[in-house]
Amino acid sequence: MKLSSSLFALLCLVCEIVSIALFLRGFFPVPVKSSLSAQSTESHVPAEPQTGSEPNTSKVPEPLFKRVVIVLIDALREDFVFGSDGRRFMPYTSHVVERGSSHSFIAKARPPTVTMPRIKALTTGSIPGFIDVVMNLNSPALLEDNLIWQAKSAGKRIIFYGDDTWVRLFPKHFLEHDGTTSFFVSDYTEVDNNVTRHLDGTLKRDDWDILILHYLGLDHIGHISGPHSSLIGPKLMEMDDIIKKIHASLISKESEGTLPNLLVLCGDHGMSETGSHGGSSEPEINTPLVLISPAFRRKVGFEKPGVLEQVDLTPTLALGLGLPISKNSVGHLIPAVFEELSLREQLRLLQINGHQLSRLLQDSNPTFHKEAGYEQFRVAEKSHGSWLKLYLDGNTSEVLSNMGKKVLKQYLEALKAMSSALSKQLGKYDMYSMIMGMIFILQVLFCLMLAMPEALSREAVVDVPLASSLLSLPFYLLCLFGSALHVLVCTSTGGTCYLCSLPWVLVFTVILLSSAFTCALVSMAARRMPASNKTPAKGSDWTLSELDALLLIGTVGHTLSLGSSSFIEEEHQTWYFLLNTLCLAIFQDVCRKYFREQRHRGEERDEGPLLPSSTEEGPSFSPAVELGMSSGSEKWLALATPLLTLTCCRLLRSLNQTGVQWAHLPDFGHWLNR
Ligand SMILES: [Zn+2]
Repeated sequence: MKLSSSLFALLCLVCEIVSIALFLRGFFPVPVKSSLSAQSTESHVPAEPQTGSEPNTSKVPEPLFKRVVIVLIDALREDFVFGSDGRRFMPYTSHVVERGSSHSFIAKARPPTVTMPRIKALTTGSIPGFIDVVMNLNSPALLEDNLIWQAKSAGKRIIFYGDDTWVRLFPKHFLEHDGTTSFFVSDYTEVDNNVTRHLDGTLKRDDWDILILHYLGLDHIGHISGPHSSLIGPKLMEMDDIIKKIHASLISKESEGTLPNLLVLCGDHGMSETGSHGGSSEPEINTPLVLISPAFRRKVGFEKPGVLEQVDLTPTLALGLGLPISKNSVGHLIPAVFEELSLREQLRLLQINGHQLSRLLQDSNPTFHKEAGYEQFRVAEKSHGSWLKLYLDGNTSEVLSNMGKKVLKQYLEALKAMSSALSKQLGKYDMYSMIMGMIFILQVLFCLMLAMPEALSREAVVDVPLASSLLSLPFYLLCLFGSALHVLVCTSTGGTCYLCSLPWVLVFTVILLSSAFTCALVSMAARRMPASNKTPAKGSDWTLSELDALLLIGTVGHTLSLGSSSFIEEEHQTWYFLLNTLCLAIFQDVCRKYFREQRHRGEERDEGPLLPSSTEEGPSFSPAVELGMSSGSEKWLALATPLLTLTCCRLLRSLNQTGVQWAHLPDFGHWLNR
């Protein structure tokens, strides 16, 4: 089949784009989505077991908190509150954490640790993928079911001050808002004053239920001068004063007969040792989460904060406010928050959360029956029913309360298992689609390489032997093999791959095309073979020198090192190593050239010139001679250059520590800053 060059190029381009799309489809995990079309409502809440026909049993339980104030400090690292920095710069918060009626946790933020995906995670309870980073700067309104939407439709009045990402995500949800921009990174004072100036007035008012404050100053300081900068201390003290002010105001509003208030202090993500964020290092993902409310038992001493996922806050806040849990939320309740409730109420809340998680699992995983958490939840719900039956009969024995505690434990384990199964699914790659995409890309690439001489010739016509390959035996064998492989992969993975979900006709067409393409490639390659044999290549006497080998191995090694995802942050180390090795190799090469030559010449002088040495043969080009230098100084210059380069490399290295691991080591940058 003869094709014109432009048509051939167009076809290749289309194939390439489709293959890349297939690869990306496998590389970016599909978000876990519930099949519920609308936002989850009261009607999706399961009935309390055993109470069946009674009214009011399939409702979300009453709220636990009257008002909630969420103080979100951007890039608040876990050790800024729980570490030595916290004790020094946030004395009030540390006191509340250690001795007040509070619960404190280390909340793990999932990478990408960037503000917008984190806000989305906190409000929807799901885990946004890396694709969300691209949307970070231009975030459209959040359409997914989320806590803010739930609160607004339940008639809660929400006030927001802080990062305007929230205002863009929730354009019509706030009763009152004032956005600050994160665009001017060098400003870390005004950006926070613009939030705090509203605080006194708002705290005095009674016309709101939820107040959200998002402070950006700390993040900006991190970007300017890192987590050990002298600016961090005063900023943390400022934040501590704000916490103190809000807490005092909430306590003063507390009165008998009304529900208690809740103050939440959290960070959206942490801060790396260089002051940036986005990656997955420990300081970046560990954020503090402090819940303060008179509803909690007063602590007697410092307890090590427990570890949980950042998304666990979403269902906890939802049920704490008496709202349905957002349908795509993958977190589970924080049990400590509800431990002062009666056993019946606790079990009810866990059942609602479990029901929501099991439904999400059913919708997103075709093999949900095999998940341990799903089965555990079914068992727990059954024993919950039998416990409630005894409870409603008026049984108050010790045995019953022990049984209730057992059900509680079953529920907690089931929730944890389902939650982790869902999060795991979000981080899973679709290897089958990725490999197939890669094979197609390589096929097109080889085809382009083989067709290049024909396509660029005068006729500009490419002869792709498709017709002849359609009649060949290997084509049918390949088709058979491809189909068998497809069936095998799809049956063994349980149909979670994207390619398996496509219609059978489409997949078979792709297999046909790919097989024909492979056969055509082989025959094209065979056609070119004899041509290259007839004319012996000019550079056949070319041998691999040590330098060539080094460059080749270095390039391959560097390419391979890029395959390791965590090594990317320290990529410069590879560069340093390769550059130094190259310099040394060149040095050795130069030494050998000059000293061997010298010895060679010495020998010549002894025995008399038998053959003219190659250097005296003709006028060879030498830059040093051109510049008017003698050959002696040229030699020393050539010898000194690699050494000089090596010294410069060492100086460059200590100019500024790059990367994350060794960022705290002293360098010239630190010294000059001081
Ligand atoms: Zn942030």
